[in-house]
Amino acid sequence: MACPVNGSRRKTQVDMGLVAMELKGKKVLVVGLGKSGLAAALFLRHQGAQVTVSDLRSAEALAKEIPGLLEEGIAVEAGGHGLMTFRRQDLIIVSPGVPLKTPELAQAKTFGLPVIGELELASRYLKGKTLAITGSNGKTTTTTLCGEILEAADFAVAVGGNIGVPVIALVEQSRPDGWSVLEVSSFQLESTQQFHPEIAVILNITPDHLDRHGTFDNYATAKERIFLSQDSSDWLVLNADDPRTVKAAPRASSRIFWFSRSKPVAEGAYVHDGNIVFRGGKGEQPETILPLTEIHLKGAHNVENVLAAVCATRLAGASPSAIRHAVAGFRAVEHRLEFVAKINGVEYYNDSKATNVDATTKAIESFPGNIHLILGGKDKNSDYALLNQLLRQRVKAVYTIGAAAEKIETQIRGTVPIVSAHTLKEAIQRAGNQAVPGDVVLLAPACSSFDQFDSYEHRGRVFKDIVLERRGLGIWQNA
Ligand code: ADP
Repeated sequence: MACPVNGSRRKTQVDMGLVAMELKGKKVLVVGLGKSGLAAALFLRHQGAQVTVSDLRSAEALAKEIPGLLEEGIAVEAGGHGLMTFRRQDLIIVSPGVPLKTPELAQAKTFGLPVIGELELASRYLKGKTLAITGSNGKTTTTTLCGEILEAADFAVAVGGNIGVPVIALVEQSRPDGWSVLEVSSFQLESTQQFHPEIAVILNITPDHLDRHGTFDNYATAKERIFLSQDSSDWLVLNADDPRTVKAAPRASSRIFWFSRSKPVAEGAYVHDGNIVFRGGKGEQPETILPLTEIHLKGAHNVENVLAAVCATRLAGASPSAIRHAVAGFRAVEHRLEFVAKINGVEYYNDSKATNVDATTKAIESFPGNIHLILGGKDKNSDYALLNQLLRQRVKAVYTIGAAAEKIETQIRGTVPIVSAHTLKEAIQRAGNQAVPGDVVLLAPACSSFDQFDSYEHRGRVFKDIVLERRGLGIWQNA
């Protein structure tokens, strides 16, 4: 098969020393005090930089973070961004939640100040090789699976990025002979300059976050930044079944491997005779990795995630047996088409992480029919009419909740009965009352959660709590 990735050209100790030297005494501003901003500020301070953090939230809202920062010698600007704060810097680190269009940032750029994200900063310090995964959907599932496969293959591996642990927090534990497996979002990729993973994966590109990126093309272009700095010694793993991903291929300088659920590929992973197989070079015989029956994840989209993970980790040098072992032991990540309970013959699934129309489509496609679907939350400028055909085919009724309810109802009117439920609790009650044995109640809302919840995790936990509580109370029938 093709040689596993070798070498770590840019990340020599000499380079790292130089980067570290450059930060000493430098004035650095960190914009946005989320998880990654906080971790970046502490890292920079420990490198000897003079660090200021600036956040729109008030000092009261940041009461938990501020004392620790001051103790470290980090200056804090809360409750807004001062124009002068942005001028007096040598470097600006922007958090993924802060749009690059923010006026103070845009102006700083016009003065020639370097503006990069935490991913870019961290990647200059990470030791060893990097496997980076992006896509509109499936990132967390695939990243987690890749981490487990590389661990099963006995590699030194650290998993982080958009998945929860900031990339900068992996720097210390990264090893020259190990791998960093990173989930990277379009927001993080927007502020990269030289980010250069040895293996990059794009799972799919479908409309999402249009409220921030403006157009689908801007969003897709941000995703493509994952391979922008790659060269012919790197690998890019792409989805042969996803049209926008296929369109990206000619722009890459790296060597492309494909994965496909529907057809054989010359180099990469695909399904053959009920097995996942991998072909390591053009004209080579594919090797069998595992039967599909050993994948314990629901839905065809998860076969795509497994194919991507097989391809990427095989390129990294994991053995077929380590891959098979890890995939067979892997279960759904919480809030991703997670089975909650079967009550009176009705199954309840929590797919709170289905925060866009494509993920909801995949969730509906994972069941043959008889679905009671809970939709709604905070709109991201999405087109819910894209669901209409599937709704007619597989869904018995839609229960709308949250701020986007009216827009959704307008766009799906005429397909299936719609119940305006307003809250998640009412939606579960109404769906539970209408469902008959053999039906599925599915939370796959196609929206973000921030109108009624702190996060999609919060929304998913509330869903599970209500389902389990009502089961405990035995009030499902005739409630
Ligand atoms: P991400 O980190 O990209 O948001 P997750 O693994 O957390 O991806 O899954 C997010 C949502 O997308 C979930 O609802 C999940 O069921 C769905 N999903 C997972 N993989 C895919 C895929 N390959 N294509 C479409 N939807 C997917």
